Amino acid sequence: MDVVIVGAGILGLAVAWELGRRGGRSVLVLDRHAPATQATAKAAALLTRARADAATAALVRATYDAVTALEAALGEDLGLRRVGTLHVAASPEKAAALRGLLTDSADPVAWLDGAGAARLVPWLDPAAVTLAAHAPLDAYIDPYRLADAYGRAARRLGVRAPGGVSVRGIRVADGRVLGVDTDGGFIEAPVVVNAAGAWAATLAATAGVGLPQAPVRSQYWITEARPDLFLRDCPITVLPDAGAYARPELGALLFGLRGGASFALDPASLPEDSNGLLLEDSDDGWTTLEAGWPGLARFCPALEQVGLAHYVAGLSTYTLDGRFVLGPVAAVRGLLMATGCCGAGIAASGGIGAAIAALAAGEDSPIDLSGFAPDRHGPVDPFAPALRAACAAARSGKTAG
Ligand SMILES: Cc1cc2nc3c(=O)[nH]c(=O)nc-3n(C[C@H](O)[C@H](O)[C@H](O)COP(=O)(O)OP(=O)(O)OC[C@H]3O[C@@H](n4cnc5c(N)ncnc54)[C@H](O)[C@@H]3O)c2cc1C
Repeated sequence: MDVVIVGAGILGLAVAWELGRRGGRSVLVLDRHAPATQATAKAAALLTRARADAATAALVRATYDAVTALEAALGEDLGLRRVGTLHVAASPEKAAALRGLLTDSADPVAWLDGAGAARLVPWLDPAAVTLAAHAPLDAYIDPYRLADAYGRAARRLGVRAPGGVSVRGIRVADGRVLGVDTDGGFIEAPVVVNAAGAWAATLAATAGVGLPQAPVRSQYWITEARPDLFLRDCPITVLPDAGAYARPELGALLFGLRGGASFALDPASLPEDSNGLLLEDSDDGWTTLEAGWPGLARFCPALEQVGLAHYVAGLSTYTLDGRFVLGPVAAVRGLLMATGCCGAGIAASGGIGAAIAALAAGEDSPIDLSGFAPDRHGPVDPFAPALRAACAAARSGKTAG
């Protein structure tokens, strides 16, 4: 094999598709489960374009290009819901942050007061709004459908993704990758891409590499369907004062709450399947919901009249500084990381796929990945409780969509 990709989540599949488009290489994607059944299947899949740094914004913009290219290649509509995002600030501090985020945006932005914001999002209480900004180019998408599209398009181009293969470790000699050991034997490859999601730090450790990330719970709730209250094409709404986001979901409202204390797991004791995983506090998100509810209901009084129909929790990975873990590691030639998703792996999948595929093909990345270097924090112990705590805190402090 020329390239082995470990992980058939959205990131591994996006890299595979981009490598398939280049042609001329044998590419194998290995996963112990069916594709896109772990973190990817759980995502709220907001594709928020406003990002604090230029490189992350470029990775997200490339996802919109990828959707267009996939739709052309497959001859299908992938159901991108381009409803825009309404960013809402309810305090002078958050209003200043909002201006900082969007004032020099390359995308169109409309600045609104409470009345203007509530015209776009009728469930929003205008009295709670200090300043709002509407970014009309934003969208959300079904994450499984997008991952499936990357995977099918890759297979059409000759990429192999057999499924049901567990990777035991990355084999390294003299500072260079030799291939991967699997439950079916050794597979030789000069380039290995680690796209193993919540398991990526454990996999990297087999090559002697410590990644600055930890598996962290993300969660959201979906109300009962009330199309009278929650319009189907209402914008995504980001509410940093409440540590919350919301988007329409077939006549219901899907909302996420970050919570003051995010919950990180020990990567060393992670089960192989995160579905049905009983998270250690086993509160089914109740603590976060109870603590976050008043802050959210202040913006959306209608929530007091509706029932909750679904609770969805899954494992993302978060890093020490809230930035992805992408690209090569100096210590091991031929080993590339495509992980540390920080709850934005769907949004950045197109850019991550293009950038990591370029590096795997021996080319320069089209997007500057220097801020995402896997070894940017120096040596780290991915199994240290202090690292987990710091990564969980990075999630709690997140304000973007
Ligand atoms: C509740 C929730 C809401 C979210 N909302 C958003 C959002 O709005 N926007 C957004 O962009 N992102 C969101 N995310 C984050 C998003 O889901 C992730 O960033 C993305 O799915 C990461 O993709 P991945 O390919 O890295 O991981 P995964 O989808 O978990 O894939 C990793 C794959 O690697 C495989 N694997 C691991 N180790 C091995 C091994 N040793 N051998 C074989 N296979 C292995 C696993 O089986 C798995 O299939 C959310 C996540 C959650 C949980």
